[in-house]
Amino acid sequence: MEKYVFMFSETKEGNTEKAQFVLGNKGAQLSEMTTLGLPVPSGFTITTGACREYYTAGKKWPNGLEEQVKKKLAELEKKMEKQLGKGGNPLFVSVRSGSYVSMPGMMDTVLNLGMNDESVVAFAKKTNERAAWDSYRRFINMFGDVVMEISHSKFEEVLDRVKKEKGVKLDTELNAADLKKVVDGYKKLVQKEKGKSFPQDAWQQLRMSIDAVFGSWNSARAVAYRRINKLRDDAGTAVNVQAMVFGNMGDESGTGVSFTRNPATGKKEHYGEFLQNAQGEDVVAGIRTPRPVDELKKVSPKVYADLLKIYEKLEKHYRDLQDFEFTYEDGKLYMLQTRAGKRTGKAAVKIAVDMVKEGLISREEAVMRVDPKQLDQLLHKQIDPAEKKKAALLGKGIDASPGAAVGKVVFTAEEAKEMVEKNPNEKLILVRNETSPEDIEGMNAAAGILTARGGSTSHASVVARGMGKPCVAGCSDLSINEKAGTFTARGNTVKEGDVITIDGSTGEVFFGEMKLIEPEMSGDFGTLMQWADSVRRLGVRTNADTPNDAKIARNFGAEGIGLCRTEHMFFEEKRIMAVREMILAADEKGRRRALEKILPFQRDDFIGIFEAMTGLPVTIRLLDPPLHEFLPTGDKEISALAVDMKISEEMLRSKIESMKEINPMLGFRGVRLGIVYPEINETQVRAIFEAAIEVNKGGKNAVPEIMIPVVGKMEEMKIMKELIDRIGKQVMEEKKAKVAYKTGVMMELPRACLTADEIAEHAEFFSFGTNDLTQTTYGYSRDDAGKFIPAYIEKGLMKDDPFQVLDRVGVGELIRISVEKGRKVRKDLKIGICGEHGGEPSSVEFCHSEGLNYVSCSPFRVPIARLAAARAALKEKSAGKKGKAAAIKKK
Ligand code: ADP
Ligand code: MG
Ligand code: MG
Repeated sequence: MEKYVFMFSETKEGNTEKAQFVLGNKGAQLSEMTTLGLPVPSGFTITTGACREYYTAGKKWPNGLEEQVKKKLAELEKKMEKQLGKGGNPLFVSVRSGSYVSMPGMMDTVLNLGMNDESVVAFAKKTNERAAWDSYRRFINMFGDVVMEISHSKFEEVLDRVKKEKGVKLDTELNAADLKKVVDGYKKLVQKEKGKSFPQDAWQQLRMSIDAVFGSWNSARAVAYRRINKLRDDAGTAVNVQAMVFGNMGDESGTGVSFTRNPATGKKEHYGEFLQNAQGEDVVAGIRTPRPVDELKKVSPKVYADLLKIYEKLEKHYRDLQDFEFTYEDGKLYMLQTRAGKRTGKAAVKIAVDMVKEGLISREEAVMRVDPKQLDQLLHKQIDPAEKKKAALLGKGIDASPGAAVGKVVFTAEEAKEMVEKNPNEKLILVRNETSPEDIEGMNAAAGILTARGGSTSHASVVARGMGKPCVAGCSDLSINEKAGTFTARGNTVKEGDVITIDGSTGEVFFGEMKLIEPEMSGDFGTLMQWADSVRRLGVRTNADTPNDAKIARNFGAEGIGLCRTEHMFFEEKRIMAVREMILAADEKGRRRALEKILPFQRDDFIGIFEAMTGLPVTIRLLDPPLHEFLPTGDKEISALAVDMKISEEMLRSKIESMKEINPMLGFRGVRLGIVYPEINETQVRAIFEAAIEVNKGGKNAVPEIMIPVVGKMEEMKIMKELIDRIGKQVMEEKKAKVAYKTGVMMELPRACLTADEIAEHAEFFSFGTNDLTQTTYGYSRDDAGKFIPAYIEKGLMKDDPFQVLDRVGVGELIRISVEKGRKVRKDLKIGICGEHGGEPSSVEFCHSEGLNYVSCSPFRVPIARLAAARAALKEKSAGKKGKAAAIKKK
């Protein structure tokens, strides 16, 4: 028969993942601390397996569980020389939940179990009367609330009545006689609410509490917590039954929680709180204010001295920040829980680096200790956490681009641009339903961007991340009335010019100006990044369209540009007219005339970028979007363009109309433009070569890699490669100079992946454009997927948004096929990815394990990718070791 129940002292490997899955994190650590010789009250753990079977059997205890619990209870009673809720020296226990990862406060706990009309009297005789009745009333309240489902507030009412009668405020001011009255009132309450009396039998109390803890696994808040934190729904909770120790025994007793270091800053100091004469739940209940843990020295110096030893022991053993719970009874200290402490990004980095210096962990372990996602917090401004508590929340959207920004609301990109031109210090938040390429300059002028629609790969999100600007996207609380110059959100109306604060790291939008705190790029951060670089295999590049972005990314450690989009360059004011002229030209001659005007601009753009990235590769993608995106939509702009082009407005309008597409995402774009109008790409390629030659002449070193977008057929690539080589040769001959360059393909269509061998004949590198590859593989429009993906996640159809976390099964399979087929034809094929996934840790890990050469991501994500790449390498190494160890064992 399966073993469902383990004494804390029975298992010796509490600190392994396996033990934590079976015993729950809390149970495993109780057992681990017991083995360590820390003062843990004895007890036993019912496994998560028992809970799972409880559910499979339709909420019934599995066969053998009752027998096993009874047996272990008897063992506990023998050890304690007490009987549960019986005899002259009764035993009391706590019944505590605890799953494989801790879900703080999400599931239920019952304390003081075993209290009844007899045991309370025996306990009073043995210890003190007040503590006995205090514990009894606590038990009825907790059991009544958790097990019998009587609202806690009803118990509070009874307690408040007794306090009022006596004219006191605090529980601690009630004496034994008062507490007896409370118990009486509680019992009557139970009778009234449930029509039956409070259960006196301790075994029945225990059985019911275990049921309640099993049940709390599926409480609404636990289910929600698991969904938000992406935890397994099928794991179940363990149940820990543990001898009670009483922090409410008087002034030499108390309870507290502490961290071994400061979890906010990482500083090595005692961080925590305690309460005298109290039980655990009082610390969080907030009725009495707990005191800083170091003040325990004044109150109970001996307990404090013991506590200091605990800090040391815990850190020495766990070699990590610990978050622990303790209780002391009549001057004796007990440990009730420990777990790895949750910490801020800043603390994570500092603790990891400090622990290496202290000799507690290795550099490699330090790299594994910092969650790459947490680095975000370090690289951007944050809202002062103290401010958040008092602010009015206007809404919550997608945390599209991290960092916080404060500014006046402005509804159009033009206005934003104008206002900043007038006053460069103006801080604005651009608020729009969604943004389009036309808004680029306004976005650039704004301090932050807020949109009502669109997802994490919407235009606003992608561009904002590229710019390193805070962005909250898809904030559906917003209803914008651009004409009136207002938006409403959760019942508030905000006018143009009102100040709001957005937090792109959380998706929150607040009314008013909030204090921001600057990011701190501490020395520790640099140290950790160096350690990460020394172990990673994957290269990290950046997606950057401007010299400024390129510089930022280089400072963050980017080893080149993996994606430089050329279309953003087309939008700038001085050239958009020429671009439009080119697009609307009647024939090739007209197009070439306009392109001549564009050429010098493009060349200058590339010069700036090559210089910023000197010595490092720069992947430039030739024009990608459908041309109509560059055409004006506003009346004013259309008339201006008509004048400029010397044609009638009517004619212009009909031209613009004729260029509209039904489905532009899959329409006339990417390489298709280059096939139909080769002169566009010829101009771009010429600009690239001329720029490279000029940069090289200036003593710097340009390393261009030219990339063709939306390729689906080998023939497209073949033609483009010939075009690039031909123009390159022409320019090099003209200028009598050589440029080392590569030609490659952006892999974003399934057909390209499936024919990667054919395509590799004509491409020296592949770069997976995983935003579009996800879109074309799933057939989900990336701009509309926000309408159904949240529901898919909620219903459990998918764990993550595939536009955020690379879909390893489908999209990943296409990548695998491409890598294999591509390298078969061309051994030294360079392969990278340049979608948003390039900065997402689990996707980076995937790229590492599939043998890609590099990932490319927005500048502010470069450190995240570096760390994620290092962790992937270390994970592989340790898996390799484990694999070897297992192989040796087998032999
Ligand atoms: P949570 O997981 O919500 O923190 P716990 O199971 O840790 O719930 O219990 C909450 C609190 O109850 C603990 O912090 C501790 O103070 C108190 N507690 C639990 N078991 C005991 C015990 N055996 N003796 C005294 N106090 C206990
Ligand atoms: Mg706890
Ligand atoms: Mg694309």
